[in-house]
Amino acid sequence: EAKTAGKAQYRFYRPDMTRTAQRKVHLRTRLAQAVEHGELALHYQPLVDLESGRVMGVEALARWPQADGGWVSPLEFIPLAEEGHLIQDLGAWVLRTACRQLVEWQAQGAPSWDLSVNVSARQWEQAEFFALVQRTLQDTGLPPERLVLEITEAVAQGSAGLAQSRARAFAKLGVRVALDDFGTGYSNLSQMQNLGLRQLKVDRSFVQALGHRAMARSVAETIIMLGRQLGLTVVAEGVETAEQRDQLHALTCSLGQGHFLGSPVPPGEFLKKYAG
Ligand code: C2E
Ligand code: MG
Ligand code: MG
Ligand code: MG
Repeated sequence: EAKTAGKAQYRFYRPDMTRTAQRKVHLRTRLAQAVEHGELALHYQPLVDLESGRVMGVEALARWPQADGGWVSPLEFIPLAEEGHLIQDLGAWVLRTACRQLVEWQAQGAPSWDLSVNVSARQWEQAEFFALVQRTLQDTGLPPERLVLEITEAVAQGSAGLAQSRARAFAKLGVRVALDDFGTGYSNLSQMQNLGLRQLKVDRSFVQALGHRAMARSVAETIIMLGRQLGLTVVAEGVETAEQRDQLHALTCSLGQGHFLGSPVPPGEFLKKYAG
């Protein structure tokens, strides 16, 4: 099954192709080689201020290019990497590459966009994760205030003590934490408070339901209000139409991300499109 998202051709491995353990091992070996040989790529998607239309930030999204010109979706290969330790090397590569890219863009005259990087629960829980982020910022020269780490609700279910100390350390460093895909997982609202969150990303399922169901509007509105009450920047994911943008703006959502506002694109294209 192939699915089109923006211009990218995604190929999903069908379950029957991955059923055997052998197949999976093969895929994981190829992924490990791709990480080791620096064959992964990053695409970048703008985070847009719904009031002014200005690009405020950029999210780095991992891509696994294939020999046939397509990409394997991160929805496929991130879980694969998460099954082992590979996610740590992969995640470290993503962070370093994206930080370097932002610094390079700024040297080329681009605005000082914020950078959002996805962090899987396994990375977040790694003992050396904080030191890795700190070192990467030092090495690349990206100011900590420009970095946003996107974690998922799975992290909020982990150890409360770890979450709290990690959140405190990042806050002290100036690095912000965002809760990604909010509303899709099991949200432990009390644990959420321990994460020192600065940003809430409303999952696109709520955005896409906006025009269709009255109930969806109430749910979206409630999530946005929750975020605002907690003093968080609220970002809507998956904004695909002008109508959705207008509705979200009316609901006082600050930032939006989605195909209507800009699809993920390779770095060169991103700079050409948004730095002007
Ligand atoms: P995410 O962090 O929630 O990223 C947003 C996803 O929504 C991206 O999918 C993006 O291409 C897609 N998207 C953006 N705008 C729209 C829209 O208007 N409509 C629709 N239908 N989709 C839109 P992508 O790039 O396939 O990534 C999927 C997920 O894979 C990400 O979801 C994230 O959880 C994970 N991921 C991607 N890169 C990384 C990475 O470097 N590290 C980790 N740990 N996870 C990653
Ligand atoms: Mg994300
Ligand atoms: Mg998301
Ligand atoms: Mg999402």
